[in-house]
Amino acid sequence: ANRMAERAVDVIKVLMTQGQMLTVNDIIDADTAQLIAEELGHTVKRVSEADVEEGLFSTDSADDDEAGAPRPPVVTIMGHVDHGKTSLLDAIRNANVVQGEAGGITQHIGAYQVEKNGQQISFIDTPGHEAFTAMRARGAKATDIVILVVAADDSVMPTTVEAINHTRAGEVPMIVAINKMDKPEADPNRVRTDLLRYEVQVEGMGGEVQDVEVSATTGQGLDNLLDAILLQAEIMELKANPDRAAEGVVIEAQLDKGRGPVATVLVQRGTLKKGDILVAGGAWARVRALIDDHGKQVNEAGPSAPVEVLGFQDTPSAGDPFAVVETEARAREITEYRQRQLRETTAARLGTARGSLEQMMTRLQESNLREFPILVKGDVQGSVEAIVQAVEKIGNEEVAARVIHAAPGGVTESDIALAAASEAPIIAFNVRANKQARDTAQAEGIEIRYYNIIYDLVDDIKAAMEGLLSPER
Ligand code: GDP
Repeated sequence: ANRMAERAVDVIKVLMTQGQMLTVNDIIDADTAQLIAEELGHTVKRVSEADVEEGLFSTDSADDDEAGAPRPPVVTIMGHVDHGKTSLLDAIRNANVVQGEAGGITQHIGAYQVEKNGQQISFIDTPGHEAFTAMRARGAKATDIVILVVAADDSVMPTTVEAINHTRAGEVPMIVAINKMDKPEADPNRVRTDLLRYEVQVEGMGGEVQDVEVSATTGQGLDNLLDAILLQAEIMELKANPDRAAEGVVIEAQLDKGRGPVATVLVQRGTLKKGDILVAGGAWARVRALIDDHGKQVNEAGPSAPVEVLGFQDTPSAGDPFAVVETEARAREITEYRQRQLRETTAARLGTARGSLEQMMTRLQESNLREFPILVKGDVQGSVEAIVQAVEKIGNEEVAARVIHAAPGGVTESDIALAAASEAPIIAFNVRANKQARDTAQAEGIEIRYYNIIYDLVDDIKAAMEGLLSPER
């Protein structure tokens, strides 16, 4: 009645003439609804529920290329614990604030921008690969360039290798920052050599990955690091159209006691303005205020700019893509649809596995992909290497396994996050998964296959691949 601008009693009357005795609170099926609407002289267009999201995000990136203006690169810092990720983020920011801002007030909103030679660079303020991969698992790609920090006195460590694999799986270019160069025991060449074992070839070793010697403590090399980032960005020709409705991704969100739900978003294309209505995941906002990384209120934020948004009705999640919509009604329609979808998929997911070997083969078959990703964990380095070799040998010219990460040790939540982002099953050889990892795997629908004999493992993968290759399946 509402949509047709008819009185509810009139609708009920028509229903009665059809023999249906109903009240305003009853639900009718789509066919009846169409009949009634036409009876009352309205034209009906049947759409599927999923059409609610149609046109929400721009689908052609040509818009960026043709109407695009150069945009700043977005950088994430990764590396082993204690190698200086946080120190480096702070040092870069402080060096910049002293030059630029009066008073040097900074505000931690989850990302910040610095300027070098008149060009901006955006840094995501949460170091490590967890956030990076969690975002990727939600379909958001927020990072253009990864800085891999390796301490010159400690060289390549297990989390360094993890970071390399997460970066590679995300297909993001990398710059190596060899940190702690102020230490007397610093040995940068050892870092360069050790990286070769993980197929990271820095320029000095004949490769193409830039490496920069730095010290977060003394500030040595920070300028060179920023230059390296700008050079890499130039090669990538990063562009976005600033003259359109804004789209981007939520980097951080929380419920603030005084201010209500607060989210920091990274604008990826278009310009976000005060007063805009935006949808992020199952939450929407009429933008009441925009606050930049210096704590200043701003009226708008363009491509690659991080900005805090006030005015959300609910708290969105980090990694949720956002888009500006025209009306509040549309924002409500989309978020209600999504909340319903979320409830349904969570319920369905508990039963099915999307990252299982069989599922993956079916998916490959449907998509004509040639590679299937897997993640390998094993008890010792030797067994991990043996498995990787065995698995990589199984492939032929049609399909092949791609090991996205292989390392000794039990299965952790971080492994599940990486597996979920690539929808890869996990092979666990002589190791178990801890409780959190098992829970996350179940929630994400990631299969963990346990083995203690390599032949069994190889047989299973072969069998799955044969299923994939035989045309009758
Ligand atoms: P994160 O765990 O990677 O974020 O590492 P942190 O930034 O917390 O640094 C770990 C430790 O290394 C801290 O005690 C820092 O003071 C120290 N550190 C970080 N960078 C440097 C550096 O360039 N030189 C020296 N000597 N110490 C550093």
